[in-house]
Parts: sequence; C-alpha cells; structure tokens
Amino acid sequence: MNCDICKLAIKDNYYKDPWGNKYHSYHKKDGFFCNTCSRIISVRTTGGGFQFNDGRYMCKLCQTSIIKTDKEQSKSINSVIKLLNEKGIDIALNGIDISIVDKKTLQESIIHLSNHNEETIKGITILNNGKYEINILWGLTELEFKSVLAHELLHVWIDYNNIRLNEEKLEGFCNLGSAIVYKYYNNQLAKILLQSMENNNDPIYGKGYRYMRSMLEIHGWESLISILLNNNQN
Ligand SMILES: [Zn+2]
Ligand SMILES: [Zn+2]
Ligand SMILES: [Zn+2]
Repeated sequence: MNCDICKLAIKDNYYKDPWGNKYHSYHKKDGFFCNTCSRIISVRTTGGGFQFNDGRYMCKLCQTSIIKTDKEQSKSINSVIKLLNEKGIDIALNGIDISIVDKKTLQESIIHLSNHNEETIKGITILNNGKYEINILWGLTELEFKSVLAHELLHVWIDYNNIRLNEEKLEGFCNLGSAIVYKYYNNQLAKILLQSMENNNDPIYGKGYRYMRSMLEIHGWESLISILLNNNQN
C-alpha cells in the first residue's frame, strides 16, 4: 500500500480521510485540511489548495464550486426556498435580507448569541427592526451555502410562526433543513457532511438533530409541521 500524498510505501501507522485517501501519519502534523470537504490538502490528493485571509483552508477540488456571482447566489437561494417548499415549509423572501459577510463580521454578530461556536460558525439569523437578517460567511461552496441557508431559513420560519422550542429542539430542527439539502445532492461530499452532522456529539446541534430526525421519521413532514404550528404561542 502506498501513501496518497508522497507515493512511498506505507509500512506502519497511517490515516485515512473520509474520501479513502491513505497517508503516512507524519503528514498530519504539518498537514492542512480543507474546511469544506475535510480532505488533506496536497498536490496528489486535491491538486493543492489555498488559504483564505481569515485562516480557513480550501482544496482545489472544492474551490471550483465556490459561489462567485450574485446570479449564482440568487439561483442558490431560490433552489433552497423551493426544496423547503416541497416539504411544506413556506418562506417568503420579502422581509428577509441575505448578506455575505466576512468571518469577523459574522463573529461580531454572534457575541450576544452564546450557543454558537465562534470558530466554525458559517451563518446567523438576526431579527432587526422586524426584518430578518441572515448573514452567511463568504467563500462557501454552493453545497455549503445552501445547507447553511436552509438552516437559517428554518430559524426564520420558526420565529415568524411564533413557535417556541428549547435550544436543542430548535437547532435540531434547523439542521433538518441542512439535511434536506444534503439528501437532495446526495453526492459523496453531501453524504460525508450529512454523516458528520449525524455523528456530531454536540449536545445541541448533534443530539438535537438526532431527536428532531427521529420525530421526522415518526411523523413525516406534514404532521411534524402541524405539530410545530400547533405548539406556537398565538
Ligand atoms: Zn506519505
Ligand atoms: Zn475540499
Ligand atoms: Zn442555528
């Protein structure tokens, strides 16, 4: 067996990334990992990669799917709205501002919303003077952008309908939105990201997601939506 980074034989300890790349354990120490797909970045495994000025790394393979133009962005927004719609979740885009922001701006906007991890956060929804503001990190690939957006749009839907959920159920439900996107794409990256959400041991984002996923399995979208709507505080 040979290393996928240096091509030399692997005789003892090695790592395997979710894509099946096998590499000598000593490459990990000074290796860089793609923030999107978790591949170890190297000429042979990813054709190289680059670093954003905010510290994130991205491999060449993912770089090709970054959302670059406003047109690509609005196309992505519309397709997420449509995917949620097909499950029975109606969201009207008027009253929602979607902005692409840098990491610092995103981190500053969550200072008062404690439950998010500052390092890994990719999106946030803020209610500002009766208008929902969704901030999404710049430089995401189409799949990441859509999964983050689906999560944030479910926050809007929950809030708009005055549904009160504890943190665990709330974030768990919003992660169902990301799962819709992953399942729709169903390519290798989407499967890996869905799997890592399912295996997440965070008490809110992971446990909450598994709870809401089991609710969805029992009830289906239509009933789950009416259970939530009947639970509101109107
Ligand atoms: Zn090697
Ligand atoms: Zn990548
Ligand atoms: Zn959230």
